[in-house]
Amino acid sequence: MFILLATNNKHKKYELQQIMGGISLKTPDEIGLDFDCDETGTTFQANSLLKAETLYKLTGKPVIADDSGLCVESLGGAPGIFSARYGSSAGEPELESGERNRLLLENMKGFRGAAERKAVFVCCMTAILDDYRIYSVQETMEGYIADEPFGAGGFGYDPVFYLPEKKMTVAELPDTEKNRISHRGRAAARLGSLLEGEFNE
Ligand code: IMP
Repeated sequence: MFILLATNNKHKKYELQQIMGGISLKTPDEIGLDFDCDETGTTFQANSLLKAETLYKLTGKPVIADDSGLCVESLGGAPGIFSARYGSSAGEPELESGERNRLLLENMKGFRGAAERKAVFVCCMTAILDDYRIYSVQETMEGYIADEPFGAGGFGYDPVFYLPEKKMTVAELPDTEKNRISHRGRAAARLGSLLEGEFNE
């Protein structure tokens, strides 16, 4: 028995597989399915539920979907649910992550000091097991927007997200440590314990 992930992103599958241990995960392309879903919700939770429902209706099989992003207090919560598309309008190609980071730092120029540079990574993960059993977990990782990018690991906004307790950006953290403390790692761990015993190989 396996659980389907509402993404074909191999990096996400690898990361989740590390955290969810014995639960057997498959991506839609691994079962020959062409899956895509427009993220039309207005919250992380709505978008993760939308992706999960779309894949569940398509397959009738148990599914997990996630939606995540970066919220900056001084920017009114932006980029938020638009994190992947920050700086590009509908129909235009997405900026590369380095360009998105430069744009974010540019937009943060007027904000100085820790209180004005507070930010939070958010991840909502939803599992649909059958028509009546649905679990949704939302977790966070708190930090600050750095003055400049630093570090070569991770992806997306990791080089500009500073963790004061570690005295480094997320891009400088080893993978195992990021998985332990990140928004996605914590959501996956909680969901994993809710699903324990259901999908183990
Ligand atoms: P989605 O969950 O695939 O829609 O991703 C949303 C976007 O949020 C990603 O493309 C990244 O830009 C950003 N993001 C989400 N999680 C992380 C993270 O752990 N590190 C850096 N950026 C992230």
